[in-house]
Amino acid sequence: MSWVPLEIDTVVACRGVDPDLFFPQTPEGVRVAKERCAACSLIYECLAWGLHHEEYGIWGGTTGRDRKRMRRAAGIKLRTPQVALPIERHHHPAA
Ligand code: SF4
Repeated sequence: MSWVPLEIDTVVACRGVDPDLFFPQTPEGVRVAKERCAACSLIYECLAWGLHHEEYGIWGGTTGRDRKRMRRAAGIKLRTPQVALPIERHHHPAA
């Protein structure tokens, strides 16, 4: 993730993981992805990015639905236009 300077002890918990894990189709899949994010050093930075830029996938331990609620509560608008899911996957930190 080039948008966050990495410290030597930074753990990016999705690095090298199949990006599909962060686009889960089941509640169990959501749980597994969120568990990984919970162990990640970048969870807050990733959540901030996801809140402002990502409609789909797990970012910073949140689902798209979680972030939609958070955006509504905080008055945040997505800064990027909606794009196709495969393109979103390409940009996920796990990719
Ligand atoms: S999606 Fe974000 S918070 Fe979750 S493991 Fe990857 S970089 Fe960390």
